[in-house]
Amino acid sequence: MKMQAYSLHNYKSIPQINKLNSQQLEAIEVVGNVLPFKVNNYVIEQLINWDNLEHDPIFKLTFPQKGMLTKKHYELMKNCILTNSSKDAIKACANKIRNELNPHPAGQLEHNVPEINGEKIEGMQHKYRETVLFFPSQGQTCHAYCTFCFRWPQFVGMNELKFASKEASLLQAYLTSHPEVTDVLFTGGDPMIMKAKILATYIEPLINSDIKNLQTIRIGTKALAYWPYKFVTDDDADEMLALFESVIKKGINLSIMAHFSHPVELDTPIVKEAIKRLRAIGVQIRTQSPILNHINNSPDIWAEMWRKQVNLNCIPYYMFIPRDTGAQEYFAVTLEKAWDVFRKAYQSVSGVCRTVRGPSMSCQPGKVQVLGITQINEKKYFVLRMLQGRNPDWAARPFFAEYDKNAIWMDDLKPAFGQKKFFFENEGEQRHLTPLFKSNSEEEAA
Ligand SMILES: *Cc1c(COP(=O)(O)O)cnc(C)c1O
Ligand code: SF4
Repeated sequence: MKMQAYSLHNYKSIPQINKLNSQQLEAIEVVGNVLPFKVNNYVIEQLINWDNLEHDPIFKLTFPQKGMLTKKHYELMKNCILTNSSKDAIKACANKIRNELNPHPAGQLEHNVPEINGEKIEGMQHKYRETVLFFPSQGQTCHAYCTFCFRWPQFVGMNELKFASKEASLLQAYLTSHPEVTDVLFTGGDPMIMKAKILATYIEPLINSDIKNLQTIRIGTKALAYWPYKFVTDDDADEMLALFESVIKKGINLSIMAHFSHPVELDTPIVKEAIKRLRAIGVQIRTQSPILNHINNSPDIWAEMWRKQVNLNCIPYYMFIPRDTGAQEYFAVTLEKAWDVFRKAYQSVSGVCRTVRGPSMSCQPGKVQVLGITQINEKKYFVLRMLQGRNPDWAARPFFAEYDKNAIWMDDLKPAFGQKKFFFENEGEQRHLTPLFKSNSEEEAA
């Protein structure tokens, strides 16, 4: 199948566009000028149910919706479009709104950028001891855009994002001089937007230089959900699989960190075929997604998703809590609700699906899992646990926070039992002055 992509410029030529009502069309114009919008013919023809758009998860996952901007921002943009024909005026209005949407969840740009010989390597991030994130410069876009995605600033071109590097050799040098690193995680955007030849320029030097510590190459991608042809019928599909196979033949684990947000993404013949081909050569597939209001905010959806994944030979890995940026109000789920969904879904599947961990927040100190809500002396508390910590010694440590039924992110929580700080907060640091709890970049997206 040949890719046909649609965005704000050509969405009117989507064959099913007459299924949208006037409010939905208006939302594309208004919201689509602020947040990124890109969809393709596979998503349109095989994932979206055009006869039930009001309730269709993939429509909401890929098409701008009215509720994704606040009333104020929506009206501002709408008026701007109605009264200004100039592109520049619309752009200025869009940027003003974008700047109010927390475009850079704190720490994403400046933290954990590794150095070699005193020089920062901008296309990399090294936060957790074992795993380096690598952002190949040619993988900074996606086959379609998710409306919740925290990477939106880079897709709307407002970013000084310097997470991109062509320098595979720097990556190789870094891994060689850091024996503690076992994993490299390619992320983006979506690295699977790259042609096999380009991805090979990053991967081949790694596997050919016999870096003893390198055990796993991970690729964070949503291509299985948005463009499974990448692994089956695209021109370079066989070349891509051969590249993966060459990694595995070297004794290095190749793991696709596949982003699936809804079971319909697992139902098409082509995604099944893609998974089969990857599994046949020994590629591991681990799955992850944020929990999102309007998309997958129910235990049944998650249980069905995990079961289908396991039946297709994939391993459920993470449920994330979406970060505090972009259309967060539209997608946000309270921590209590996220735990409730996780727990009920987890309870209704067998142990083979329970490889999944979550719900987890990626914050500055680390990945924080909401283990649950408990009562001590008739008072409710959140029980939390670090899954990953900036300090490796923090991992697997449980801790408590005051119960707050409206909390949606770590920075809404206060330490329990009258303590002034959580155990991982530095002595002398004043809580309200630190961006400690802001979210941090990682691979949950693609
Ligand atoms: C989540 C994450 C990783 C990978 O962590 P695992 O628990 O090993 O999957 C690596 N780096 C960053 C910055 C992350 O957020
Ligand atoms: S979640 Fe992943 S696939 Fe979706 S827009 Fe973000 S980076 Fe792209």
